[in-house]
Amino acid sequence: MKLKTLFLSSLLSVCASQVWAETVTVYSARNEQLIKPLFDAYTKETGVEIRFVTGTEGALLERLRAEGSNTPADMLITVDAGNLWQASHQGVLKPVKSATLEANIPAHLRDAKNEWFGLSVRARTLFYSKAKVKPESLSSYEDLADPKWKGKLCLRTSKKVYNQSLVAMMIAQHGEAKTEQIVRGWVANLATDVFSDDTAMLKAIAAGQCEVGIANTYYYGRIVDQEPNFPVGIFWANQKTDGVHVNVSGAGVTRHAKNEKGAIRLIEWLSSDKAQNLYTDKGMEYPANPKIKPDALIAGWGTFKSNLINVAKAGELQAQATKLMDRAGYK
Ligand code: FE
Repeated sequence: MKLKTLFLSSLLSVCASQVWAETVTVYSARNEQLIKPLFDAYTKETGVEIRFVTGTEGALLERLRAEGSNTPADMLITVDAGNLWQASHQGVLKPVKSATLEANIPAHLRDAKNEWFGLSVRARTLFYSKAKVKPESLSSYEDLADPKWKGKLCLRTSKKVYNQSLVAMMIAQHGEAKTEQIVRGWVANLATDVFSDDTAMLKAIAAGQCEVGIANTYYYGRIVDQEPNFPVGIFWANQKTDGVHVNVSGAGVTRHAKNEKGAIRLIEWLSSDKAQNLYTDKGMEYPANPKIKPDALIAGWGTFKSNLINVAKAGELQAQATKLMDRAGYK
C-alpha cells in the first residue's frame, strides 16, 4: 500500500515536471484576440500548453526587468522594432540559433544577434484623397515637405513610436540635417493639428480636411473592410528610391527562459507557412516570411518594394529621432 502511494506520488511529480517542461509562457503586447487563436492552434497541433500574459509594450518590458531570473516568461512578443530593440538593449532577451528562423525571416526583419525575429510586417506609407489628388503627383515621404503640399498634409502625432521609427529610418538614410529639413517641411505643410491615431488621420483625409497623409496600411484595411468606397487611396512611397518604410511585430526568447527549446519551437512555428496567415491576417498585416501571401484584401493593393535597412535601426536612432521632431516643432 505504502509502495503504491510512493509510486503514485512519484508518477505525479514526473507528470508535473513534464507539464512544466512542455508549457511555454509568453508575455505578449499583441492582444488576446490576436494571439489566442494561434496558441490554441499550436496546442491542438503539438499538445504543448501555452500560458500567456498580455500587456502594453512598456509594462511587459518593465516586468521582465523587474522579475529578472525569477520570470516565468519564456518568450516575449511585442510590436515595433523600436520596442524589440529596447528589449534586446536592456538585456531581457537571449540569442537564438535556428536555421528555420534564418530561412523563414529575411535578415532586415530580425536582430543581427538573433535575439528577436520579425513575424509580421507593417507598412507605413502614403494615403491621399481620391477626389483631390492625382496619385502621379505623389512620390515619397520626403516630397510631403515640398511647399506644393502647403495646408494639405495631415499627420499623426510624433509621440507615436511609428513616426519615431519612420523618422529614425530617414536619419539612417539621409543624416540628421537633411531629415530635420524634411520634418520642418512637413510641419510647415500641416493642414491641422496632429492626430492621436492613424484612423482619425485617414478619416480627416476622407472628410476633406486635408489631402495627403502617412499611415500604417492595416488601419486603412480595417476601414475599407467596412467601407469599400472609402474615398482615400493608398500610394506606395519611395518606390523609385529606398522603398516603403516597414516595421515589424516580433518575438524573442527571454534571457531567463525555463523552457528555451519550447519557446524556440513556438517562434519557429509562428514563422512557418502553417501559422503566418493566422498571425498576420486578423491584424491585416503582411507575413514576415516572404514565401507566404497576405490576405486577399491586402494583396489587392499590389506589391511594393520595401526599405531594406535593418528594422533595428529604428530602435537605435529612436531617441535621436524624437529630439529631432521636437526641435522641428512636430508635436
Ligand atoms: Fe498600430
